[in-house]
Amino acid sequence: MDSLQAKFGLSYILIIAAVLLLLNTYPLLVSEDLVFRSKETTLQASVSVMVYSLSGLDRLNEENVAEAMAVVEETGLSRILVTNSSGKVLYDSRETGGAVGEYTFYTEIVQALLGNDAFRCAFRDGAFRSHASSPVLYQNRIIGAVYAYEYDTEQGALLGGLQGNLMRLSMGVGAVVLALSGLLSMALTKKISELLTAIREVREGAYSHRTEIRGRDEIAQLGQEFNSLTDRLQTTENARRRFVSDASHELKTPLAAIRLLTDSILQTENIDPAITREFVSDIGAEAERLTRITEDLLRLTRLDSGVLDTPVVVDVLPVLEQVMRMMSLVAHEKKIDLTYVASDDCTVLATRDEIHQVIYNLTDNAIKYSSVGGAVQVSLRRERGQVVLSVEDNGAGIPETDLPRIFERFYRVDKARSREAGGTGLGLSIVSNTVEKRGGTVSAANRAEGGAVFTVCWPGVEGGTA
Ligand code: ADP
Repeated sequence: MDSLQAKFGLSYILIIAAVLLLLNTYPLLVSEDLVFRSKETTLQASVSVMVYSLSGLDRLNEENVAEAMAVVEETGLSRILVTNSSGKVLYDSRETGGAVGEYTFYTEIVQALLGNDAFRCAFRDGAFRSHASSPVLYQNRIIGAVYAYEYDTEQGALLGGLQGNLMRLSMGVGAVVLALSGLLSMALTKKISELLTAIREVREGAYSHRTEIRGRDEIAQLGQEFNSLTDRLQTTENARRRFVSDASHELKTPLAAIRLLTDSILQTENIDPAITREFVSDIGAEAERLTRITEDLLRLTRLDSGVLDTPVVVDVLPVLEQVMRMMSLVAHEKKIDLTYVASDDCTVLATRDEIHQVIYNLTDNAIKYSSVGGAVQVSLRRERGQVVLSVEDNGAGIPETDLPRIFERFYRVDKARSREAGGTGLGLSIVSNTVEKRGGTVSAANRAEGGAVFTVCWPGVEGGTA
């Protein structure tokens, strides 16, 4: 009873049974009632005719009753009795075995002798049995009773036929409906169990499994929704796996270098102190790299978790100036000309740290991927309600084929160069995640005159409103 198919099946059976029961009883009851009424009218009319023929007699006896009854036409009744006021039969239409001379106490006769018209009809064994009686009066005195009985098999047969037809029809309808409902519930439960199997498969980790439920009904729609949910799940799962494997690879590289350097120091006898110093300094650099990667990973995990710091209205210009001051030292070292132009009406809804991170990462990249003597220009402006930050350099630019992928985690155009420059491959992912979380966009392009340009757009807000 736990299966949906059994529940559907049982409810169909119950509904069909109720409908068929109604079909088999209601029309029969109505027809029976109609026949009863018509019988009452005709039988009472026959009795009235007989009572009328006896009217005028001051008392009844076998002779005058027989005389009066002789003129009454034969009406197809099965039996007619006429009694006197004490219930003694004076006339019996039955030719043999008549009850003349006997006392009779049929309910209808007793009723008639009490002064009432009586009628009773029953349908049994394919026949209508109707009984009717009326009192015979003389000067308001009951002098006897007339009783008529009719046994009708003709109408009984009609009703029996109707009953049989209804029964056959019901059985036919029942069989067809049952077969159809069986097929229907089977089809339905088949779809549901298909969906259930798919859900279980995916739960066990088979993310490539899809349901193939045909049709346009709700279950088919459920199947399609499930498939698109699984698509997303698979994409997220693939990205997660790639991220985990890339991250562990990235962490493994500096760890392996540290291991190698320490082994060299330990295994080389009488090692030159200058070389030891160089190796230890390399170990320090690798450790620093590990720290940078872990910090970036933590930053991304925080962004992924969706828990954001409450945004405030941030004036971007002071943050930009602070980053520029910081970066000018690095730029100076590389003989790179770092300049910026900025307007002072640039306020966005974010946090100061986020803005700092975005400007820092983009400027750092521009300096990192420019050659000595290059130029980096940062511009901050307000354009059609948006705050636009662009960072341009005149370095090598980014190959067109790599452009769509550079915001992916750990994606680098030139791995060796990035590593050498101290990159983690996560800087641009952090930028795009940070910006998008605040409703902004970021894009990368190559400049016609050479070099790359990164453009960030934040939705602008009016300063000091929050
Ligand atoms: P990384 O730590 O390697 O710099 P990012 O996510 O910041 O990682 O950048 C991803 C890749 O995009 C870099 O490895 C580099 O190949 C490319 N890239 C980023 N900025 C620039 C730029 N200004 N000029 C040329 N290539 C760039």
